[in-house]
Amino acid sequence: MCNQNFKEKLVERFPWAADVNISVGEGWFQLIWNMFEELDESSIKPEIFAISESYGKMVVIYLSPIIRKYTDLSKMTCATCSQGGSIRVINGQSTAYCDSCYQSAKAEYEKMKDALKAKQVSEPCYRCGAQEASIRDLDDDCWTVNCDDCWNKVLFRKEEDKRKLNDLVLEIKRSISQQDK
Ligand SMILES: [Zn+2]
Ligand SMILES: [Zn+2]
Repeated sequence: MCNQNFKEKLVERFPWAADVNISVGEGWFQLIWNMFEELDESSIKPEIFAISESYGKMVVIYLSPIIRKYTDLSKMTCATCSQGGSIRVINGQSTAYCDSCYQSAKAEYEKMKDALKAKQVSEPCYRCGAQEASIRDLDDDCWTVNCDDCWNKVLFRKEEDKRKLNDLVLEIKRSISQQDK
């Protein structure tokens, strides 16, 4: 809904607005203009990401410089013990950890994973319920309990997906090289 002319005029006058995503009715353009003028004069100008509408009023997604400073610091501060750290991923979840808290959280996760796996060893196939089943690794953090038949089907589908993807990549490469000619 952002009128292109308005956005261009806005960026010309307020270069810092180039990346702001604006999606409101044209009737609010003047309000935004005035708001930007006031912000421009203020000494602590927030970083604005988006302006949209919700329940009839304007919603501005922004970060003040003071808040930005602390959210940046939080990325480098262990959320468990407050020592210096960085963002690490365990089981697809991002958390700020120092080295030692990361090591213990990772060990804890591995232990939990092993215990869960041990419990599942005697479970029937998740797909067809056959009793003759075992644990199959899908990747480092992900596994399933399948009988031979079901697992072969999974592997076959994986191969087929890979082949389809390869075909698609080839097709795209071909069309790009044709455009070059
Ligand atoms: Zn820590
Ligand atoms: Zn099965």
